[in-house]
Amino acid sequence: MEQLLQQIEELKQEIGAFAGTEADVAEQFRIKYLGTKGVIKGLMGEMKNIPNDQKKQFGQVMNDLKQLAEEKWESLKQAGGSGEQAGVDFDWTLPGTPVNAGGRHPISIVRNQIVSIFKRLGFAVAEGPEIEDDWHNFTALNMPENHTARDMQDTFYILQNPDWVLRTHTSSVQARVMEKQKPPIRIICPGRVYRNETISARAHCFFHQVEGLYIDEHVSFADLKQTLYFFVQEMFGKDVKIRFRPSYFPFTEPSAEMDISCTVCGGKGCSLCKHTGWVEILGCGMVHPKMLDNFGIDSNKYTGFAFGMGMERICQLKYRVNDLRLYSQNDVRFLDQFTGSV
Ligand SMILES: [Zn+2]
Repeated sequence: MEQLLQQIEELKQEIGAFAGTEADVAEQFRIKYLGTKGVIKGLMGEMKNIPNDQKKQFGQVMNDLKQLAEEKWESLKQAGGSGEQAGVDFDWTLPGTPVNAGGRHPISIVRNQIVSIFKRLGFAVAEGPEIEDDWHNFTALNMPENHTARDMQDTFYILQNPDWVLRTHTSSVQARVMEKQKPPIRIICPGRVYRNETISARAHCFFHQVEGLYIDEHVSFADLKQTLYFFVQEMFGKDVKIRFRPSYFPFTEPSAEMDISCTVCGGKGCSLCKHTGWVEILGCGMVHPKMLDNFGIDSNKYTGFAFGMGMERICQLKYRVNDLRLYSQNDVRFLDQFTGSV
């Protein structure tokens, strides 16, 4: 009996000092002391060994112990319910755990801006497959087999079927739209394209283009100029000027390349514009009549213009990123800088 009372006294102290750091500490306490296999229940089992004249005293001591344990359990439950951890001081002034906000990839930011500008001019977004057949990627675009223009682009061919390629430009999407839709056609085609190039700061085996196509009656080069001028001013600001240089593309005639006044030096000359004051941003031209005929569009009735640009190039001019590889390395230190942009 003496030994039991001693044990109960120690237990009371243990219960009084019970503290935990776990969220479910109240439940742990209940299982340990008040559960059906708990310490108190176990001690109650000793009753049968107690001499009859001491049973009353033992019962009282046990009742006190049980009451103490129940009070402690209540206080643990309340502490848990208020969001505090029982037995642990909670400092409300401590700063919270930071949560890193995600951000859009710079290419996605630029893509969304380009799409939104052209949408305001009535252009709809069109998309197509990245694995393309020869017809849509080359032949339909006025580049028949052995056409020299095919050499301008290093193509990835699909081994199992040499008629399939990874599309080298998003012009293949234009081909697919012209196949199905009759004029007026007013689309832009943003997407990823592939070229068999060695990866370096200035070249990559995949990159992103946006091409535009507008076909209707009486579409002229003046419409092309005005459309692209609107785009440039929306994208780079009202002070930016444009100029056109004659060029060659198989699917347009006449063809041109468009420069904008340098966005870094404003035309005074710097390393980005190689001290010319101008930077090239896109290729364009009037849709070749043969292209229209390829798709059964009457080239005597309809005319059109087309343009295409690299999103990485626009990104480079907007954010001054000089190494193409950064766009696909998924380096969080690079990507974090665009968090907050839309
Ligand atoms: Zn410059």
